[in-house]
Formats: sequence, C-alpha cells, structure tokens
Amino acid sequence: MESFSVAEKPHAVCIPMPFQSHINVMLKAAKILNSKGFHITFVNTEFNHQKVLLSRGPDSLQGLPDFRFETIPDGLPPSDLNATQDDLALTESITANGLGYVRSLIGRVNEESSKSSAYPQVSCIVSDFIMSCTLEAAEELGIPQVLLWPMSASILDIFHHRRLVEKAFLQLKADKSYIANGSLNMPADFILGLRDIRLKDIPSFFWDGVNDRLLTIVTREMEKYTKASAIIVNTFDALEREVLDAMKSIPPAIYTIGPLPLLEEQIPNKLLRTFGSNLLKEHTDCLEWLDSQEPNSVVYVNFGSTTVMTRDQLNEFAWGLANCKHPFLWVIRPDLVIGEAASLPPEFTKETADRGMISGWCPQEKVLCHSSTGGFLTHSGWNSTMDTICAGVPIISWPFFGDQLTNCRNACVHWGIGTEIDKNVKREKVEKMVREMMQSEKGKEMKKRAMEWKKSAEESTKPGGSSYMNLDKVIEEVLLHPK
Ligand code: UDP
Repeated sequence: MESFSVAEKPHAVCIPMPFQSHINVMLKAAKILNSKGFHITFVNTEFNHQKVLLSRGPDSLQGLPDFRFETIPDGLPPSDLNATQDDLALTESITANGLGYVRSLIGRVNEESSKSSAYPQVSCIVSDFIMSCTLEAAEELGIPQVLLWPMSASILDIFHHRRLVEKAFLQLKADKSYIANGSLNMPADFILGLRDIRLKDIPSFFWDGVNDRLLTIVTREMEKYTKASAIIVNTFDALEREVLDAMKSIPPAIYTIGPLPLLEEQIPNKLLRTFGSNLLKEHTDCLEWLDSQEPNSVVYVNFGSTTVMTRDQLNEFAWGLANCKHPFLWVIRPDLVIGEAASLPPEFTKETADRGMISGWCPQEKVLCHSSTGGFLTHSGWNSTMDTICAGVPIISWPFFGDQLTNCRNACVHWGIGTEIDKNVKREKVEKMVREMMQSEKGKEMKKRAMEWKKSAEESTKPGGSSYMNLDKVIEEVLLHPK
C-alpha cells in the first residue's frame, strides 16, 4: 500500500448498524483499513459508546494511532445502560434519522480537520448496508461510499431477487394456513445462483408475518444501494461461488473480503489486532477452563446477541446437554429467556458442576479456535458461521430467525459441516445430536468438511488469495482512486 503524509492520508468514516454483530464486523473492516494506511473515524451511537466504556473500562477506546471514535445519537429516548434496546425501534430510528446525524458529524470532523493538521479531511464512507441513508452524505461530499453487507452473499442474492420472493410469498399467503400446511417445504428454485433451498430457508421476515416492519426497512434500504460505489461482503469466493457468479453482472461491484477474522489476524500492530468492542463484559476465565479439558471434547453453546427462547426451550437444551455427558461451555446472556431473567434449574447446575462452564459473554473466536472445543451448538448467525469456519468446528444449528435459516441450510446441506435441530427442541434430540457430532462417523465427516473449509478460508485470505486481493482492489479502485 502507498504511504501518506497526514494531510493526504485517506480518511474513512466507518458506520455500523448499532448492533453487536454489525459493530464487530465493521470494526474488523476498519482495523484492516487502518493497517493499510487509512485514518479511521469509527462511529458508534452514544448509547453503545457508553456501553463499550462500561464493559471495557474508561480508557479502553484510546491509544490507537490514526483511529478515533465518534458518536451519533440513536434518536431513542434515554435508557438505562443495562437495559436491552428495542431492536426494531432502534432500526427504525437510526435509518430514518441517520443521514442528518452523519451529515453533521462529518461536517464537524472536516471543520476540526481544517483547523488543525492532526488528521485529514474525510475521503470516503464505509457504512453498513442498512445504513444506506448515508449514501446521500457521500454524494453531497463527492466522495466514494462502500457498503458493507453484514450477511452472506446468498442473502444478498435473495434480496437482489426480492420481487420474485415477495411474489412467491404473496401467492402462498393467500391460503392462511401456509405455515401449518407444509407449503414452505416447496423449493425456492426461482433465485438464480441458489440451489436446493426451500421457501422456509428464505429469511423468515419475508414470510413469518411477525417481522413485516423489519422487512419494510431492509427492503427500503435495498432500494438505494445501487448508488454505492461498491459492496464488500464478509465471505469468500470458494464458499459461495455460484451465488457470486449469479450476481456478477448486477451493479455495483461486489468485493468478497472474508472471512474478516483471518485478515484481522494478519494486522502487524498487536494493539490494533486485538482491540475489540464488546457491549457486554467479556469473561475470559472460560479459556483457562478450556485449557483443563481434553482435546476436541467440549461442546460450545452460544446463540449470539439477539436470539431469545422460552424457559422450556432453555430447560430442554440444558437436560440434553446434561444427559449427553460431554463437557460444555454455555454462554447465557441475561436476556436470553423471553420475559424473565435467564436461570438454569438448580438440579441441572448440581449435576453438571464437574463438566459444565456457564459464561455471560465470551471471546468466541478464541473459544472456537481452542483445541478442546469439538463442536458448536449455534443459532447460525452469519458471524458465528464465519467464526466456526475459520476454526474448522462442526455445528448443530438451531436457527432463530432472519438469515440464520439460510445460513443453517447452507451449512448443513451445501457445506456439510452441520445438522439442524428442530425449532421445537427436545432434550432427547439434543443428547442424540450432540453425541452424533462428537462421537459418530457422521460427526467425523462433518469435522473433516469443516477443516477443509477452514483451509479454503485460509487460502482466500493469504497473500494472492481472492479475499486478500479483493481487499487491495477495493482500496485501490474504489476508496483511493474512484472513477
Ligand atoms: N460473540 C462473542 N461472544 C459471545 C457471543 C458472540 O464475541 O459470547 C460475537 C461473535 O464472535 C460474533 C457476534 O458476537 O462476531 C455474533 O454475531 P452473529 O452474526 O453470529 O449473531 P447475532 O448476534 O447477530 O445474532
């Protein structure tokens, strides 16, 4: 990469959606750009900024050269930092008001920059796909904007074909019993590039009838993306080749630059490489506990930052884990159970005291890469899917909603790294499937496939690999020297 004086340094403003997984992936992209010579302004909402400071300590966002944190409001009434924000209200507010917030933020940053020589003028915007309101800000300033698509390329392809998808579901919904009568098992063979998926594998907000407001927001944001200079996606060519080929001719250009955790690993500066932004306090004692376990023996259980379940479902998972007799590490967020504080039955805790570790929020990438971790019971969020592929760990998938259904289908059917467990989870099934993943021939085959994907991900991100080269290309062709 070129080297720059302060005044001519490129300056990227990086704006994630204000949710944990979106912040994680944007921070990785920002850190990688910073390591390639960019000055970075990373934008969190005020609420999340305070949460990061609370979980990591007051000085935690300092010390990175050419990397500053700025905040914008989220437009919601003030709330207690320990409260969980309403995801939908937040999405509505930030997408409706984001342009104004970002416009005034960039104005302030540029004004400060013109008064001092400490940092350069903003030269490009990298924002979350769902924050595409910021495209207008980039247009006004005449600078390039790259959208970071935070899900798989398959989901992007589904959204590219959303009119066909909407049409299919409109016809289906004419019969009110469309969910109960099995219609969702029909093939969704009208989406170019996607093979062997069913209607029920399409993100649930298209068809479940309970997420219509979310669908409206996401599709509205999708209307604008053609104005972007490029799209970057946290995936790699070998993993989603057919869908990527199917989208080749659809503008704007797509650059696959994943898995980002593997590019992040290559950042030379240790402080930059290891710098994180958890909204919840991270518990690292589980790594010491993993050190004390046998290789490939532990089942790691984590349903991400937003999945919720009923108390019964929690109990079924608990007794399934207890009965399979494998050691397990289970991350249970305080808000995991709908309507009440998450807690486990005391008899379960007593029975599994010698082999179970419960944590509140863990360093997931390190846990998955630990030699003791043998399998992952997951909700199949996209970042967790990338994390498990980077680590070569097979999965049991319990998708909760949205894109997780498609990720589950891909992981189980096309990539061969997992099996799906019923929504209506039962302890006998959990026990059986964990044993299968950890002990059976089928489990060994899934592990083998997971290790093959890990190798393929490593190939993509090493010098000369597709993601490595795409990163340099998007920097050169779009962010530094836009046409
Ligand atoms: N994560 C983590 N510790 C945890 C749980 C999750 O660091 O205990 C991180 C994980 O590495 C990933 C993100 O949180 O980056 C979860 O994202 P994903 O897309 O899988 O799920 P979501 O939270 O959006 O449902």
